[in-house]
Amino acid sequence: MAPTRRLWLALTALAVLAAVAIPAASSATPGPRHPYRDRVGAAPVLQAPAWSPALPLPHRQVLPLTARDGFATDVRYMVRPGDNLYAIARRYGTTSAVLATRNGLANKNAIRPGQELLIFPVGPAPAPPPAPASAAVISRGPSIPMVAFSFDAGSDVGYTSLILDVLKANGITASFGMTGAWADQNPSMLRRIVNEGHHLINHSYNHPDFTTLTTAARWDQLDRADAAVTALTGLGMKPYFRPPFGSQNAAVNADLAARGYYYNVMWTVDSWGWMGLSAADIISRCLSRAEPGAIFLYHVGIQSQDGPALQAMIDGFRAQGYAIGSVADVLGH
Ligand SMILES: [Zn+2]
Repeated sequence: MAPTRRLWLALTALAVLAAVAIPAASSATPGPRHPYRDRVGAAPVLQAPAWSPALPLPHRQVLPLTARDGFATDVRYMVRPGDNLYAIARRYGTTSAVLATRNGLANKNAIRPGQELLIFPVGPAPAPPPAPASAAVISRGPSIPMVAFSFDAGSDVGYTSLILDVLKANGITASFGMTGAWADQNPSMLRRIVNEGHHLINHSYNHPDFTTLTTAARWDQLDRADAAVTALTGLGMKPYFRPPFGSQNAAVNADLAARGYYYNVMWTVDSWGWMGLSAADIISRCLSRAEPGAIFLYHVGIQSQDGPALQAMIDGFRAQGYAIGSVADVLGH
């Protein structure tokens, strides 16, 4: 049992006993056993007080019963290394937005191993959704007036600092497809990405074509990338994966799901910045292809003008009536 919950139960038990101690002590004859006490069995904290039908039911007022363990209780979760709010939300069949609100998190990355999160305010947790046999290939979100920005960080640090400045100035959190190698080479930049609330997608350790790898090699790439990010930030990247080169097949998607990566995140529109388009061409290409729920693919590297084109794209999408968020935001996770 978590220390906070144990303390909470102990304090509640004291309150219950205080509420009934005086009338119970004034009556020399013990009352009947508390009916809930009998149902609960060997409850470790609460002692059955003397009770008579004339007295209110302090248990019922303070601790209404639930089906799980006889007492209503907050459902709390202790954050483990490599967790993130999206993975925790999926485990409990809720959303990161709900968990962020419930726990007063302004930044969805503002969780640390050992921290307790309130998952549900009361009652038993529902059964988690079943793990899929294959990762879902996602190339767009639902038809909502929002587009997702995703920036792949595979090689050099490039325009990352500029991109983060522009996103921050516009109040946007986006997704970053992160390789473990990039994380290892740019630890302070990775921490800035996380601290500023952006969403991470596992983009492998060093960017091989997953269709050419064995299952063991795929899992090694996923695990090493996640471990690199966890070592630097405490957070993990499940359940999101972006395939290097967009290269994937059924075997890759089965291996992703088996490792906890349930979303294989492709894109709706590739800016083609990596192909050497000018900033002006990137802007016109992307703005002309905006559609509800679209996922845009950009790169942070110096070979791409996506960073310099960013502010004009933000202005253009907003002028078309689109909000801008991360892939997780557009998917409603
Ligand atoms: Zn890439």
